Amino acid sequence: MPELPEVEALRRALDDPVRAFPVEKAGPAHIATLKTFDPPLAALEGRRLAGVERRGKRLLFPTEDGELVLLVHLMSAGRMRHVRAGEAGPKTPAFRMRFEGGGELVLTEAGAKKRAGVWLLTPEAAEQELAHLGPEALGVGVERLGEILSSDSRRLHSFLRDQRALAGIGRAWANEILHRARLSPFALSTELSREEVERLSAAIDEELARGLELRERGAKDATVYRIHNHLGEPCPDCGTPIARVDYEEHTIYYCPQCQTGGRVLKDRRLSRLLR
Ligand SMILES: [Zn+2]
Repeated sequence: MPELPEVEALRRALDDPVRAFPVEKAGPAHIATLKTFDPPLAALEGRRLAGVERRGKRLLFPTEDGELVLLVHLMSAGRMRHVRAGEAGPKTPAFRMRFEGGGELVLTEAGAKKRAGVWLLTPEAAEQELAHLGPEALGVGVERLGEILSSDSRRLHSFLRDQRALAGIGRAWANEILHRARLSPFALSTELSREEVERLSAAIDEELARGLELRERGAKDATVYRIHNHLGEPCPDCGTPIARVDYEEHTIYYCPQCQTGGRVLKDRRLSRLLR
């Protein structure tokens, strides 16, 4: 699932290829993928892109003339890549954009549900579309993080995943960050000590930087994640089997020794049903 490290690695890989040639043909796009109709995708044709930017988990492709921005959100199953001229690409991608040199930018999405989105916007509309996002998670800093944490009482795992609080982290990196910070996923944001906020701030930067470095080298999920999806495997720090707990439609992975003082967390969804 693409979160800040994955999307930033992708941004860096796409930045040169997308600016090399003007757009020859934008589209077609799957009806569920394209979220806007005015301006039409054809408005991109003949224009050159100024490269790729990123905000949280979203990619932005502004045109060189400053008039349009193509915004892409991959959600959990969307994947985007540049197909070089002559290279075989997917037959029916959710979105395709061809450049004059013959290269293509393609968005594919596994599964029947189409959740990934493409928006073609004016710069002003793009700004509005992104206005709800909190500060970038990477480099947020301990002072700012402390302020956001104390502004609302939340379980740490759902706090980290909330794009309005902090932009760029999803469930996989929330698991990695909380393990590195040695904090319980259920700890309340307003009840952290100064030292714990410092640990969380350092863990956010260290884990996202570690992820970005590995993704830029093409590393796969099994090696990038140390905790996420590693149920029953030994904790890399203490050897205790990694545990899981379901919460808010998400599966949380954690180490009961490093993070919760030996306590096993109860599945909140299940216990609510049984009550
Ligand atoms: Zn451990």
